[in-house]
Amino acid sequence: MSGVISLTYSKVKTFLSCRKAYWLDYESGLPRPPETDTIGGMIGTGVHRALARLCDTGDPAHGASELDAYLRMPSHEAVGPGTEYHDLAFELYQRGVAAHQSIESEDRWAELQGQALAHSRGIRLWAKIDRVDRLPGGHWQVIDWKTGRFDVGEETDAQLDIYHVILRTVRRLPAEAEVTAVGWNLRTGEKRVRSLTRADAAATVSYLSGLAHRIQSVAEFEAMPGPACGFCRWRPQCPESAEADAFAEALFGYDAEPEDTPPAGEP
Ligand code: SF4
Repeated sequence: MSGVISLTYSKVKTFLSCRKAYWLDYESGLPRPPETDTIGGMIGTGVHRALARLCDTGDPAHGASELDAYLRMPSHEAVGPGTEYHDLAFELYQRGVAAHQSIESEDRWAELQGQALAHSRGIRLWAKIDRVDRLPGGHWQVIDWKTGRFDVGEETDAQLDIYHVILRTVRRLPAEAEVTAVGWNLRTGEKRVRSLTRADAAATVSYLSGLAHRIQSVAEFEAMPGPACGFCRWRPQCPESAEADAFAEALFGYDAEPEDTPPAGEP
């Protein structure tokens, strides 16, 4: 590989988690195996779509209509009306409405898409940001809505840092503009907040440029079996993942002999 490399947060995350998965996803040209919708994924997508409508008009009814229509789709039967997940989706949306009403913005954008091309550094960043607000006093805010039971702090930070660069580029923010980037979890109520400056944006671009060079230098995209296998669409076709499971089974799968088992009542 050579020249400019396009990076997204998920591309970076995939490379760092498993190089083989990165190659399969982005370099191999193989058609990606279809992913099955998970309950959490459907709830998250529905709530995000509803929050985008809310952000567009400011009317909670518009987001509620969108969420209702999404959850009633036959392919989303598992989270449809009458299920606990349907109620959960609306509960999360209502928390999103409260979050929206707590933000005093001068202007706002939902699902702001953009790219930042740093040709000299050999990277093009791309992202779609859930929500951007221009706040009073020349301050800006980026929000990434979360709907899962927990978040990994470092992953949220890395995601927000890329969104920050995209915002500065797309809206052409002045150097002195300050940006607050928030990973806002509507399920847990937790807000992961980063106060970011232009220097932070430059540091993010520098890091990602270095990572891009690293990616371009890799000749063999080795499998890295680990936690990522649990979410990997290529797992059924990945012998290394099965071999890692078999290795762990042999290493830790000790079956206690009957005589090793303490009598009931003994510690
Ligand atoms: S199943 Fe695991 S080891 Fe195989 S490509 Fe996916 S993440 Fe990598």
